[in-house]
Amino acid sequence: MKAMYLKEPGTIVEKDIPKPDINEEGLLVEIKQVGVCGSDIEYYETGKIGEFVVEEPLILGHESAGVVADVGEKVENFETGDKVALEPGIPCRKCKHCKEGKYNLCPNVNFMATPPIDGTFTEYFAQPADFAYRLPDSISLEEGALMEPLSVGIHAARRGNVDLGDSVAVLGAGPIGLVTMQSAFAAGASKVIITDIVDFRLEKAKDLGATDAINVQKDDLKDLYGEFDKVLQTAGTSDTYEEAMHLVDRGGKVVQVGTPSADELNIDPNEPITREFDILGAFRYANTYQDAINLVHSDTISLKPLISKTFPLEETEEALIYSSENPEKSIKTMVEIS
Ligand SMILES: [Zn+2]
Ligand SMILES: [Zn+2]
Repeated sequence: MKAMYLKEPGTIVEKDIPKPDINEEGLLVEIKQVGVCGSDIEYYETGKIGEFVVEEPLILGHESAGVVADVGEKVENFETGDKVALEPGIPCRKCKHCKEGKYNLCPNVNFMATPPIDGTFTEYFAQPADFAYRLPDSISLEEGALMEPLSVGIHAARRGNVDLGDSVAVLGAGPIGLVTMQSAFAAGASKVIITDIVDFRLEKAKDLGATDAINVQKDDLKDLYGEFDKVLQTAGTSDTYEEAMHLVDRGGKVVQVGTPSADELNIDPNEPITREFDILGAFRYANTYQDAINLVHSDTISLKPLISKTFPLEETEEALIYSSENPEKSIKTMVEIS
């Protein structure tokens, strides 16, 4: 089968490798759709993210859906031909965090496309059945792949305890910002204002139901709308990380999802004390996939409008470059495997 390897920063090569074996609790999945994520682009461009460094050729891609091609002997609830979304992080299932259900915090997680674990820019993938989720007929494989970013949005809204009637600011209108905004509405927020510096993304946010969408290069969010019960930061810049703390109301909650470079931060440590707000981190997600599928199935959340352009597997490198170079006209780039 074909697999696309990141050989070194800036170079993706196609290799022919054997189909993976599955164990008795696994599924062999014929991968059909994979979303290009910011992390894939960062590994492609620089070869590392934080402490994770690509040392051996690595298959990128972790937002994936496909069709079950083979089923392990002990798997009961799947059959060949089922459409499935694949949750990319397989935790140890044994540590304290796993046992508490917070398996996103498992120190022994194997996460797709995080070195040295391969991802899904490939034709087949062996997936433990308990981290695969059947998609109903109403949901396409493209949407199935995007249950991954949607999971990040659901987890962010849950971390912030977004509740009935809350006013919410979402900083950043990229793919994660747009699903976080929709998750906040689904959780009961009465008002969700989203910000970005790219008008195309702000227009998309309005189409998806944002109460308002503000270009922060032209307008000041706090001047226009004051403070918010919850502020969910998805942009990953030091400016938005700091701004989140200025926008939250006394006693509110800030959820930091996007990761800025720490050396540029300029934060007043007294702010969360004197205004008594919570600063929370949100790392990946846990227990979100089935809920994500249900929210899309019920038309509470839409993922299709996020998809901007699709490339075939052989053009994975072009997909990464396109996604990186075109923030003003693309939200989510997909790789389709036929
Ligand atoms: Zn992702
Ligand atoms: Zn664990």
